[in-house]
Amino acid sequence: MVRLVLVGPPGAGKGTQAAVLSEKLGVPHISTGDLFRANIGNATPLGQKAKSYLDAGELVPDEVTNEMVRERLAEPDAREGFLLDGYPRTTPQADVLTDILAENGMELTAVLQFEVPEEELVRRMLARGRSDDTEDVIRRRLAVYREETEPLLEYYRNKILKIDAVGSIDDISARALEALRARA
Ligand code: AMP
Repeated sequence: MVRLVLVGPPGAGKGTQAAVLSEKLGVPHISTGDLFRANIGNATPLGQKAKSYLDAGELVPDEVTNEMVRERLAEPDAREGFLLDGYPRTTPQADVLTDILAENGMELTAVLQFEVPEEELVRRMLARGRSDDTEDVIRRRLAVYREETEPLLEYYRNKILKIDAVGSIDDISARALEALRARA
């Protein structure tokens, strides 16, 4: 049973790797960005709350995000492990996650930190062309990452496995699996 968090700047390939690793490890891929986008697409009340933040590259407020994650982790498939992609993104979110897991007698297996040089990040994001991938929004998302999310690296220092995230999809997932094996 494996419970993982993926951390890395926007454009580091977390979503791609999360999909590959969730398949190989047999645990659900839980992406808060995907959950928000699905809610926006379906015009749900949650989507209405989240839309302006995604459009601006800002973080959705913690109460909204934490509640969504709490509900998702309560679903049966997540009891057998999970891979969280894009959550937590702030230290208060990490505290909530620690509490949710502790309530169920669980803790994280590891935090995979995806490392990519900044020029490569901007290049990758401009190439994928999502609606929040315009240059201004990309810069804002990178700044938000530095300010809000990087402190998590200290919070999780005992659980971090650093992954060099430059290379082919297969190379990167192999590095991640090897890092997990070496830790186990
Ligand atoms: P992502 O797909 O992970 O790049 O997330 C896209 C957008 O969804 C972010 O720029 C935020 O607006 C929002 N979002 C995703 N995850 C979170 C989170 N953990 N906390 C707050 N906002 C989030």
